[in-house]
Amino acid sequence: MVRLLLFDVDGTLIRTHGAGVAAFQRVFASEFGIQDAVAGVSFAGRTDPSIVREVFARHGIEASEANFGRFFTLYPHWLDHLLSRSRGEICAGVWNLIHRVGQIASSVRMGLLTGNTRLGAEIKLRHFQLWQAFQLGAFGDDHEDRNALARFALRRASEWMGADLRGEDVVVVGDTAHDIECARAIRARSLAVATGGNTIEELRSHSPTWAVPNLNCVTAEEICGLAPAEDFFGADA
Ligand SMILES: [Mg+2]
Repeated sequence: MVRLLLFDVDGTLIRTHGAGVAAFQRVFASEFGIQDAVAGVSFAGRTDPSIVREVFARHGIEASEANFGRFFTLYPHWLDHLLSRSRGEICAGVWNLIHRVGQIASSVRMGLLTGNTRLGAEIKLRHFQLWQAFQLGAFGDDHEDRNALARFALRRASEWMGADLRGEDVVVVGDTAHDIECARAIRARSLAVATGGNTIEELRSHSPTWAVPNLNCVTAEEICGLAPAEDFFGADA
């Protein structure tokens, strides 16, 4: 029986159509005088602090606490502003799945496992009225390394639930190879969704437990282990 579902944010729960990346650009331009700072930088599946560190390194800016502080003080304002002007969306199947998990498995907790900072994740998910659906989370400002973040999430969830959670109690839902690795780092199962840009085939090449085109292709019962999941692509559960 699954006890905890951990969801990635970008490309898994929502798509911001570039508002997140644009917010990075604006902060680097306005605060550090760097134009087009994130050109060629990969965002998918990474923690925000690790992206900022890479840009600092590329442009010879000291990766000091003060500079990280400058970046992350301004970033939420730009993110909020740009989100309000963008047409993003909730990924297919997300809302139904969250609603249904609450109905059929009230003991299953839903949390976030994301490279966004906590405030960044909150701004994005509040924009789509999704923030309240999640009871806990591990975020990019908890740890810069995504796999360490997974261990952090498991520990935090165990404390919060007053239980000794193990990897087998957890399913990590995400849209990139990083999410699949993350699940593996804590011996959890992974459900890869092709709603963030990676194809099913690309995701499958990283051997997730399951891979689906979108979250409409899986039921809450299957994810929570209440029904056989043999209909999943490549299911081994
Ligand atoms: Mg993602």
